[in-house]
Amino acid sequence: SEVLLSARGLRVDYPGRAGGRVRALRDVDLDIAQGETLGLVGESGCGKSTLGRALLRVVEPSAGRIDFLGADLTRLRGRRLKRTRAELQMVFQDPFGSLNPRRKVAEIVAEPMLRARGASRAEAERAVAGLLDLVGLGAEAGGRKPHEFSGGQRQRIGIARALASSPRFVVADEAVSALDVSIQAQVLNLLSELVRDRGLTMLFISHDLGVVRHIADRVAVMYLGEIIEIASRDAFFTGPAHPYSGALLAGVPVLRPGPPRERQLLEGELPDPANPPAGCLFRTRCPFATDICGTRHPELREIAPGRSVRCHLPLDTASEDPH
Ligand code: SF4
Ligand code: MG
Repeated sequence: SEVLLSARGLRVDYPGRAGGRVRALRDVDLDIAQGETLGLVGESGCGKSTLGRALLRVVEPSAGRIDFLGADLTRLRGRRLKRTRAELQMVFQDPFGSLNPRRKVAEIVAEPMLRARGASRAEAERAVAGLLDLVGLGAEAGGRKPHEFSGGQRQRIGIARALASSPRFVVADEAVSALDVSIQAQVLNLLSELVRDRGLTMLFISHDLGVVRHIADRVAVMYLGEIIEIASRDAFFTGPAHPYSGALLAGVPVLRPGPPRERQLLEGELPDPANPPAGCLFRTRCPFATDICGTRHPELREIAPGRSVRCHLPLDTASEDPH
């Protein structure tokens, strides 16, 4: 299918201690297809949120390009940037923290619409009523304040707000992580419906593999600022190719029993991103590391159609016991 957004060599450096730099994002290449939900997983601190924010230009990339609707997003300025921003929205983790408590819900939801498109008040009011209906709250919710709503309802308000500027691409960063498990499924279903019915494309960032399995078409895994595996949801959950993916999945109880090498639990801490190991960045925690892993940095390479892995010795995904 058609690529909606494409990143090449995307890099983000943050200032570190003693005038140094911390590379939070390491030359990420990523294509996101129109209409898909791409799950982005990895441990806290691996660069998932930085990638999501860089794709929306909330964080300025230090290098690389982002092709979106015929232009390089990283080069847009002024009015073109403002217009393009309306096509890119974010749903945040903490619905309460991201909603202004002093304003009415209708104003909160209308704000991106008024800012991005210069809609009239009357237009905005009609659109807000429609959006509140769409996310299952009902138009009357617009007259109330955020604190009058439960966590799940506030997340629906956050989603209505994200949709207000009619975006094509939405980044949901830990969008259901703060919710009770019973409410998570409802909000996930709402997001899936919106993606389907409105032709949205979504980057769904989560540390929770169970949630990603529920909603994503494809899965990308990050480690220390790099993408280390990309696969279809089914291929990924059936047989992860990167040792790190295997270790992440070993913590998910629904995983069927596999060969012992894939059930190895992850040990040790994420290395300091300011001092990454030479060679493969996962080498300090990888149970399968050999000499080459310490000297050569593996490229992200395609091992099967639609499936890429950054490892000199990927796990054998083909010879798996089908039970
Ligand atoms: Fe492990 Fe080597 Fe693969 Fe890195 S390249 S994940 S150290 S086997
Ligand atoms: Mg994060």
